Amino acid sequence: MNATPAKNVDNTEIIGHFINNVDVADSSRCVPVTNPATGKITRQVAMASQETVESAIAAAEAAFPQWRDTPPAKRARIMFKFKQLLEEHAEEIAAAITDEHGKVLDDAMGEFGRGVEIVDYACGIPELLKGEYSRNAGPGVDSWSEFQPLGVVAGITPFNFPAMVPMWMYPMAIACGNTFVLKPSEKDPTAPMLAGRLLKAAGLPDGVFNIVNGDKEAVDTLLNDARVQAISFVGSTAIAEYIYTTGTKNGKRVQALGGAKNHAIVMPDADIDNAVSALMGAAYGSCGERCMAISVAVCVGDETANSVVKKLREQIANLKVGAGTDTANHMGPLVSKVHYDKVRAYVDLGITEGADLVADGRDLVVDGHEDGFFLGPCLFDNVSADMRIYREEIFGPVLCIVRADSQEQAMQLIDDHEYGNGTCIFTRDGEAARYFADNIKVGMVGINVPLPVPVAYHSFGGWKRSLFGDLFAYGPDSVRFYTRRKTITQRWPSGGIREKAQFSFPGRQ
Ligand code: NAD
Repeated sequence: MNATPAKNVDNTEIIGHFINNVDVADSSRCVPVTNPATGKITRQVAMASQETVESAIAAAEAAFPQWRDTPPAKRARIMFKFKQLLEEHAEEIAAAITDEHGKVLDDAMGEFGRGVEIVDYACGIPELLKGEYSRNAGPGVDSWSEFQPLGVVAGITPFNFPAMVPMWMYPMAIACGNTFVLKPSEKDPTAPMLAGRLLKAAGLPDGVFNIVNGDKEAVDTLLNDARVQAISFVGSTAIAEYIYTTGTKNGKRVQALGGAKNHAIVMPDADIDNAVSALMGAAYGSCGERCMAISVAVCVGDETANSVVKKLREQIANLKVGAGTDTANHMGPLVSKVHYDKVRAYVDLGITEGADLVADGRDLVVDGHEDGFFLGPCLFDNVSADMRIYREEIFGPVLCIVRADSQEQAMQLIDDHEYGNGTCIFTRDGEAARYFADNIKVGMVGINVPLPVPVAYHSFGGWKRSLFGDLFAYGPDSVRFYTRRKTITQRWPSGGIREKAQFSFPGRQ
């Protein structure tokens, strides 16, 4: 796992790239990587030039023919070994996540574990790639469909799950026989770099998996290079739309997962204590920096709302905020100073817009971490649908309470929102829950489950402006996304029979 990193003049490590199974040093253009709990710059990360990205694409293209023809069972054996190595290095990877993202260690381990589940799923690739066969589709004619890899495919990922979201993509892409170029977030690049070295140690041939660190220049090179056949993106909606529009215009297959504003409905008959505990974890876990975080709780009836707000305030008072390395803490800092300022400005805006700030985390100071990007949990009551704090994704520890008169009104709010990633209903009424799941216009639905993130053998994705494209991430959809169907029809004339030319279209047999 230890590659000798390049050093800057002030002796900070520079994270380069990983191309052809080799660490590539690059100090031409760098941006700082910061520990959000201390506010200190810990290392620098190189921003790949167009030439560097093109060299990664060339490595992936050169590796493709042999990798495509490698039996799926052999590819699966590399995935088994990779999974074993990941588990051996779990603590190291989780520590890197906490160091650069800020989330508490348990949460980092949780994200890591969900990523490894997708490697588990990729181990079953021989079964998943089995084609479809029809004997005697016509007299003496057999027909089958097979699923062929696309070639070089790319992944572009966000800061908030630096280990897991890349693992939504590359294990399945590689297992399907493609070669891969990953462009991780520049805010927390270490975890994916560690995983790249483990793939090499697992026996993955040179060039099958490559990492380029970078920014828009790297992304635009991937979007515009004709050798890249498909792009998976996860990040904010504005960039997701740009990736989808540009990539598809350039003839690529694209799936681009975007932002979210996930609502939970709390019905009057819900187990309020359980619902409130679930809301606490879903709103403030990972400092609200999850695409499946609950950022709006729609309470049906004033009595429900009053009870939820009272219990949330009690639990917020006991929520421990501090460095992610201290296992007693529930919530760490926001990822950067820029993001801290943005989230804090939304809290100020909510007050201006007329919502009631009933828990205010703005004055939080964490002893010994005065320069960290800590914002305490914030709770707004009486939020309305016209407010920007309701309409826009804040991506921080800010929960909005909206009061509704009925389930229908609560569901209408969700359906009218531009995002449709995840949602949840808390109720004891099976009929209400079933109606909700049947009709709500959202991609992932929880019933008394606040974060309904699908397991590895289902697929993950939102509706509306939370996903551009047709196929979800990982699970069965990923086999379809990372392969192209080919259908073959064959006949072997037997017995020396000569056939006459047929000029009409072959009809029903
Ligand atoms: P982001 O959109 O800023 O960045 C995502 C990726 O795009 C990064 O690799 C970044 O370097 C790159 N990028 C940024 N600006 C770019 C530009 N102008 N041109 C080309 N590439 C660019 O997102 P983020 O802040 O890293 O992550 C948070 C966002 O991701 C939130 O909106 C969150 O909801 C979303 N997210 C969505 C899901 C999902 O499954 N729908 C999952 C995780 C995160």
